[in-house]
Amino acid sequence: MFRIGTGYDSHRFEEGGRLVLGGVEIPHTHGLKGHSDADALIHAIIDALFGAAALGDIGSHFPDTDPAYKGADSAKLLAVAAEELRRKSFVVCNIDATVICERPKLAPHIAAMRQRLADIIGINVSQVSVKGKTNEKMDATGRCEGIVVHAVALVASA
Ligand code: MG
Repeated sequence: MFRIGTGYDSHRFEEGGRLVLGGVEIPHTHGLKGHSDADALIHAIIDALFGAAALGDIGSHFPDTDPAYKGADSAKLLAVAAEELRRKSFVVCNIDATVICERPKLAPHIAAMRQRLADIIGINVSQVSVKGKTNEKMDATGRCEGIVVHAVALVASA
């Protein structure tokens, strides 16, 4: 049986700090603000995976009120989520994500993000798609106030 899940996340930019997307550090004037490392791409993918398996959401597994997740490496959370799906006999078929921001330009980092995400989840890079879009200068993302990510995941269950 195939099951699909969607995920969404957004984080605000703040001056300084690290910008980590898809487990890859990207040089930029601004980082993302959040309780964890604020990796919005990984957070959206985790929600897509949990959604596909109907296993709740990122907040129910890794609450942002829990000091254990302060500054957390989101790559580790994604690894835990992928393991949880495996334990419940789900196999990840593919993931597709769209990252929306005006800056930085993501094209030079797409290949590294896809490979890192595939490695963390334990699937082939051909099963992971990451696309970068601008918002044509409209709304909050268009004003460079933050980054928005949409993701879908297809999983199969035995
Ligand atoms: Mg988040």
